[in-house]
Amino acid sequence: MAMFADTHCHLDLYPDMLAVAHQCETRAIRTIAVTNLPSTWEKFSKRVAEYQCIRVALGIHPQLAAENSRELNLFLRLLPKARYVGEIGLDGSREAVKSLPQQKKIFEVILRSCAEQQGKILTIHSRGAAKDVIEMIELCHGLGNGVVLHWFTGSAKQMFRAVELGCYFSINSQMVASQSGIKMISQIPANRIVTETDGPFISIGREPAKPWHVVDIVTGLGKLWQINSQQANERVAENFKRLLESAPTK
Ligand code: MN
Repeated sequence: MAMFADTHCHLDLYPDMLAVAHQCETRAIRTIAVTNLPSTWEKFSKRVAEYQCIRVALGIHPQLAAENSRELNLFLRLLPKARYVGEIGLDGSREAVKSLPQQKKIFEVILRSCAEQQGKILTIHSRGAAKDVIEMIELCHGLGNGVVLHWFTGSAKQMFRAVELGCYFSINSQMVASQSGIKMISQIPANRIVTETDGPFISIGREPAKPWHVVDIVTGLGKLWQINSQQANERVAENFKRLLESAPTK
């Protein structure tokens, strides 16, 4: 059976989150449910514990990190229990750039702790801060190849540096539909691509994107790669599998 994965979805932010979780299960969409603050992680993990397809990631969203710096202690306390980590990263866009120095301090502690503990899969935000994010990943030995750059909008040069460091890239519906996204995707090595929805922040038509919309993203990737949907699915599923295997637990 075809296997699909949504590596970055804010499942806890859908008003009907359990209905969405149930659908993920029925459709066998493996979903990494990122969270924006560690105080959400434990509660939400319990709520969706019965769903085999869902893994809840422990996160501190960069746009919330500075004003919630006290949550870092909770994050560090929970980290040994979390295999999946996200949403984490840096945001250098206009709204968040003021807190970039604080964001960096927090992100550095998180990366170091993940490297020490090993076996983590990280989904990382890098809007307007790709250069800093990649430099920090580079300085942090031991992260292994479990790093996914989510919705990457940096330069091609930065992308290639991240490829050298072993990073993966999660592609969403906006990227496969925009000129700049298509240009980026066509340059990323095909064996480093996985899929994400970033739902509910991205809409498909009038509806917030749901994890099963990764099926359409895979079709879009197939068009860019000039292979059929099934071949594209095999490729992306293989990448996802390799990503999980590349971060073995201690
Ligand atoms: Mn996100």
